Amino acid sequence: MLFHFYKHIVSRFTRTNPSNIALLVTEHCNARCVMCNIWKDGFSAGVELSIDNYDELLSNRLFKDVVNVMISGGEALLRKDIEQIISCILTRLPRLKRITIATNGLNTDLINKKMLKIASIVNDFNGNILLISQISFDALTEVHDQIRAPGASIKVKNTIDKLVDLRNKYSFYKISAGCVIQPMNVDEAEGVFDYLKLKNIESIFTVICFDDHYYGNSEIEELYFKDDKKNKLKEVLKKIEHKEKNIGKKFLYSQFRSMLDGGTNNRGCPALSDTITINSTGDVIPCLNSGGQKYGNILSENVRDIWFSADTRITSRAIINERCAECMFACGVGYFNALKFAIRTIGGRFF
Ligand code: SF4
Ligand code: SF4
Repeated sequence: MLFHFYKHIVSRFTRTNPSNIALLVTEHCNARCVMCNIWKDGFSAGVELSIDNYDELLSNRLFKDVVNVMISGGEALLRKDIEQIISCILTRLPRLKRITIATNGLNTDLINKKMLKIASIVNDFNGNILLISQISFDALTEVHDQIRAPGASIKVKNTIDKLVDLRNKYSFYKISAGCVIQPMNVDEAEGVFDYLKLKNIESIFTVICFDDHYYGNSEIEELYFKDDKKNKLKEVLKKIEHKEKNIGKKFLYSQFRSMLDGGTNNRGCPALSDTITINSTGDVIPCLNSGGQKYGNILSENVRDIWFSADTRITSRAIINERCAECMFACGVGYFNALKFAIRTIGGRFF
């Protein structure tokens, strides 16, 4: 923990080994989300990295300080070798503390089967590693079906119930849920928060973001908040911020509200300095809002050389200057910025 905090401070001033890896292991997806075109485009994405590619990649000394791995897709659990990827992560990363696997929660049987196996692998390896399933959950009603896929609301609830059984079995296993707020579900977001709280499931709420390269959604008119829906969004974020106990998430929601009122992003996003993001074909990308830019590809260059290259620094500096101020992607918050928010919030109660 102390080491991670120290690294976070140092990484603000100079480029260091990353603490976090985001692996987008596939672009195949069985959902049909209205805010994302991956399910249309994914099958032409190219050849996915193999297990040998992952093994070689993660053996690189660049990753010796990694504590968090976030796995997503597409639908990551559709990868037939996902268990092997997890084994490889466990074996190759000496400081690892947490693996999070994002899932759309739609194929209950497959998810349950895969997570049972993965939990058993983690259990055999080392019970000190936190394993998290992060499930997409946008609405309690058929609105979730309209957003994600037919029958999605029932399927996701069934998946949650199955995974709760797994949670009861392993203390290192947790469930969390992510809700993307957009005009279609803004009236339901607070209900989702309350439902998840009742089930003892951590939640993270984000506001719909637009991107032409990854989600391919910037031209979908109905995803944009206008007038009364925008006011509703601010109101909901305020309520969720008030109910949420985690100071980092409170800060995130307060930032979203401030940006909706014309403010700029002041989250201290660690995505460019402390997280390395690698897509399914081996491209090292700055973040999900980098407009199709990439630092390099791990199949043709050493990943350490890519991470520390002068071009990478120039690209990431350009993103900070040109994109971060307006960005609402939930790419994380900086410790210092969250701390300042906490001091202001606590101070505000007394003065
Ligand atoms: S948002 Fe996620 S679950 Fe939905 S289609 Fe895109 S990758 Fe699949
Ligand atoms: S704030 Fe947005 S644009 Fe900037 S690094 Fe984070 S995700 Fe990328």
